[in-house]
Amino acid sequence: PEHVRKEVPLPRYVRVNLLKTNVEDVIGHYESEGYTFDQCSNNYNSYEEYLPSVKSLMGKHFLKDFHLPDVLVFPPGKDFHQHPLYTDGSIILQDKASCIPAHILSPLPGSHVIDCCAAPGNKTSQLAAGMKNEGKLHAFDKDGARFKILKSMLAKAGVQCAHLHHQDFLKVSPLDKTYQDVEFVLVDPSCSGSGIVSRLNSITDKEDSTLTQRLGSLASFQASILKHALSFPNVRRVVYSTCSTHREENEEVVQRVLLETGGQFHLTRALPNWTHRGLGDFEFGHLCLRASAQQDYTNGFFVACLERCLGDKECLD
Ligand code: SAM
Repeated sequence: PEHVRKEVPLPRYVRVNLLKTNVEDVIGHYESEGYTFDQCSNNYNSYEEYLPSVKSLMGKHFLKDFHLPDVLVFPPGKDFHQHPLYTDGSIILQDKASCIPAHILSPLPGSHVIDCCAAPGNKTSQLAAGMKNEGKLHAFDKDGARFKILKSMLAKAGVQCAHLHHQDFLKVSPLDKTYQDVEFVLVDPSCSGSGIVSRLNSITDKEDSTLTQRLGSLASFQASILKHALSFPNVRRVVYSTCSTHREENEEVVQRVLLETGGQFHLTRALPNWTHRGLGDFEFGHLCLRASAQQDYTNGFFVACLERCLGDKECLD
């Protein structure tokens, strides 16, 4: 069973904060400290070719990630929390899988965007970087303590296009004029966290007995927040993600919401060149993405990308 699986040490992923610096300068900074950048990582032909080099990363070597151009990969165990690039906001210490949702949403500079469950703000700052700090990025969180962290995190990262709302997103009216031009929404709600590698060993049998009940209530919350995101009048693309491995919080939520929104939205293939897909027993499974420590050397994650149907043709898939 999952809870007795031995913890797999994950690489240390570093996302370069493009609001403050660029990838070449960060590589140069690490090289000046005696690290060696693996030049081959600029030119892998396939994910299969890249994975073994992540597995064998050791000592002071590091790579560029295969899928995400602003992510660098270091050996497990590197702690950069005291590193000057971290303390000045030039790098964000964010697991690779958790960088995928904002990468897929990819709002253009100038667009209007909602991050409905934003704290502590890793994905919010990544969205702002993609938007080059241009446009409006509404970031919500209902938890007071986490909202404070969100505020200071975004300030440290140099985010200027964010409008912060200490508010329950479910209580925000989609008809409010403030949000009339919102086309992109990131939905990264609270979840069981069962995909987080450092938490796997702490799941006990006692917790298992109430798991079904807990997953049921998490799933209803996740479905209502996703449906609420889809109810904004001009929304075009919504990315849904969790750090859960449970189908109840993932494919089942997507299935329920697609049905309940009556064919207005369809799934597009999330990160097309990612090989690890959603569960095959859902007909749309291949359009969703899963990540795991065993296959991808990341935390367990699930991502789905929903887009509004614009014509009959598009909605047949
Ligand atoms: N996206 C964040 C990041 O990448 O840094 C992580 C988000 S965390 C998984 C989920 C967040 O949703 C929590 O901070 C929680 O307080 C917030 N949340 C839960 N229910 C909410 C609601 N109804 N409205 C707004 N925020 C909510």
